[in-house]
Amino acid sequence: MPTLQAEKKRKIVTGEDYVNSLRGRNLKVYLLGELINEPVDHPIIRPSINALAKTYDLAVMAPELAAVVSPFTGEQVSRFLHVCTNVEDLVLQNKMQRKLGQLTGTCFQRCVGMDAFNALYSVTFEMDEKYGKGYHERLKSFLTKMHQYNYVVGGAMTDVKGDRSLPPHLQEDKDMFVHISKRTKQGVYISGAKAHQTGCINSHWLVVMPTMRLGEADKEFAIIGAVPVDAEGITYIYGRQSCDTRSMEGGNIDVGNAQYGGQEAMVIFENVFIPNEYIFMDGEYDFAAMLVERFTTYHRRSYVCKSGVGDVLIGAAASIAEMNGVPKVSHIKDKLVEMTHLNETIYGTGIAASYQGYATKSGAYICDEMLANVCKHHVTKMPYEVGRLAQDLAGGLVATLPSEKDLNHPVIGGLLKKYLRGQANMDTEDRLRILRLIENMTLGRNAVGYLTESMHGAGSPQAQRIQIGRMMQLEYKKRLAKIIAGIVKEEEQDVLINELNGYFERVFKI
Ligand SMILES: Cc1cc2nc3c(=O)[nH]c(=O)nc-3n(C[C@H](O)[C@H](O)[C@H](O)COP(=O)(O)OP(=O)(O)OC[C@H]3O[C@@H](n4cnc5c(N)ncnc54)[C@H](O)[C@@H]3O)c2cc1C
Ligand code: SF4
Repeated sequence: MPTLQAEKKRKIVTGEDYVNSLRGRNLKVYLLGELINEPVDHPIIRPSINALAKTYDLAVMAPELAAVVSPFTGEQVSRFLHVCTNVEDLVLQNKMQRKLGQLTGTCFQRCVGMDAFNALYSVTFEMDEKYGKGYHERLKSFLTKMHQYNYVVGGAMTDVKGDRSLPPHLQEDKDMFVHISKRTKQGVYISGAKAHQTGCINSHWLVVMPTMRLGEADKEFAIIGAVPVDAEGITYIYGRQSCDTRSMEGGNIDVGNAQYGGQEAMVIFENVFIPNEYIFMDGEYDFAAMLVERFTTYHRRSYVCKSGVGDVLIGAAASIAEMNGVPKVSHIKDKLVEMTHLNETIYGTGIAASYQGYATKSGAYICDEMLANVCKHHVTKMPYEVGRLAQDLAGGLVATLPSEKDLNHPVIGGLLKKYLRGQANMDTEDRLRILRLIENMTLGRNAVGYLTESMHGAGSPQAQRIQIGRMMQLEYKKRLAKIIAGIVKEEEQDVLINELNGYFERVFKI
């Protein structure tokens, strides 16, 4: 049976409670070739824990934004554990995400689990309508337990996938996709590996889900279940981030963002047991596509987090322009306007997807698929341009700056402070801190979150183009054009214009 050490602990309320709840879990975590003793105290890992802790502190500071009253326990819990039951719930998720991006300047790692719960709520409901296996009630019991402790739940979807041209059952090595390796009356055992798992080591539980549409031959890969992070048979291998060892050097300037960072790791499952009560899909391969599509619909608009992180980068770019003495120059102002325009475009499409949300059969609300995909597709491009403009405004020092140790050196420190000064009344060290922050977000540790995660997280760009292509309703649009162009006769026009289906049917009929 899985035994989560944290279950012995009380409900988590503050960031400090959360950090304490992570201690002593005896996880098997490898980082830089070593088995880590206590992740909480590791200088490379700790910034990611601080970023996640901020989600608890925000819930205390601004409960209207980051907390809800649990329908299961009647007590206040994190909004990250809430299943949306109206449009306002969806919108508030986005507002909370932008705020947390602003407060941490990085990925705060909690949205995959939130979006997984929301997707699973409606998918288990519809699976039970067809198969009557009781998954929905099991999920509700699991959610109740998560609410009782106010836990962090990670969403483990992306398999390592091996040969991308082959489905799971045709892979030479079956472990390329997580699958059922053994079955007993009490539950199932799973093996395989999930890649790029955001915040997995900082979570209390993981929900394991299939990564793609599955066919009948892939039945043993159609498994959804929850496991505590310290379940027997799990190994974590920490993902390296650019410049990560700077946080082991002792200073706090060169890291750029000393306090906060993101986290990804590979999670390897070797015959990990999932008891029946935590299984939410077992062989229903025909619902894998629905799960993946609903999860990505929530998750692609969750990427408004990047607009909060973008606010920090725009602030850094404006600050360096000021420190360089050029804040009023027209092309500088115009570049800041362009960065803001791109950033708000991300936010605009994400929050519109939430405002255009609608009820599923289960009563849970889901956001608009088209706008969610458009939001994420913008995110695969716009942060790169915002980052380019930030580097433009920063000047070359963003990549050639001497180290903090040189700055504090008894012989050369004074020379650096003299020669690295910008506008006379600005502090040289402040200027270096801002330059390091821009480096951190566009080339260093948090470029993982601001750039590469923007590209691939919740699916690489082509995944959104496929979804947008499926929903773009060209027949309907062709009809509109033909009516306006006078090709369709007047008496047929009303019928044709109201003959809606797919995306536009839902948009115009709600
Ligand atoms: C920072 C970060 C955080 C993440 N966090 C999480 C997380 O918390 N949980 C989680 O489950 N996942 C997470 N992901 C995983 C993310 O969803 C995947 O990276 C994404 O789906 C792409 O998969 P991949 O990395 O295996 O790339 P690949 O699948 O190798 O894709 C590489 C390229 O090949 C193309 N390609 C791949 N397969 C095909 C095909 N069959 N036909 C045509 N083209 C193809 C893609 O479009 C892309 O251009 C995260 C990723 C990153 C980078
Ligand atoms: S990338 Fe954004 S949406 Fe995804 S977990 Fe991090 S903060 Fe949340």
